[in-house]
Amino acid sequence: MPPTKAPRGLNDRRRQMMAAAVADIIRGGLEDGAPSKFAFEAPIRQAIRSRLCLRGKLWSEADLIAGDVVARGLALVGAVRPTWAEGQPDYVQLGAGAQIERTRCVRCHKPLPGEHTKFCGTLCAKAYHMRLARLHNFNDERAYDTAARLS
Ligand SMILES: [Zn+2]
Repeated sequence: MPPTKAPRGLNDRRRQMMAAAVADIIRGGLEDGAPSKFAFEAPIRQAIRSRLCLRGKLWSEADLIAGDVVARGLALVGAVRPTWAEGQPDYVQLGAGAQIERTRCVRCHKPLPGEHTKFCGTLCAKAYHMRLARLHNFNDERAYDTAARLS
């Protein structure tokens, strides 16, 4: 087995520079309508970890470094993790954790039948979730591509 070249280390200064770039990606995402400062946490961490692995770092070491860089980036934008209740899709800021009482389908806006609480049926539910998944994938790929150029 040929000897592998030791990967370039990421000192504190380099991590801080990458964290500043991560903060820029997060701010850009917010300007483009991302729902929170944490929206691109996973694809950014994945991109940085992937690049470090390709440069010879062990996955576990690369993941720790990527996690540290992303945590620093989130701190730079003042990100504070929400409580579990605040993280739920139906949470609104009106009052203390008030929830929206829906009477109409989220997708087609027809009155909700019987016990349904969000969609009029499985067709609307599936179409809605597929559209959301496509949107998330598009935004995640953009964040990933930008973060992959950092490391
Ligand atoms: Zn519907």
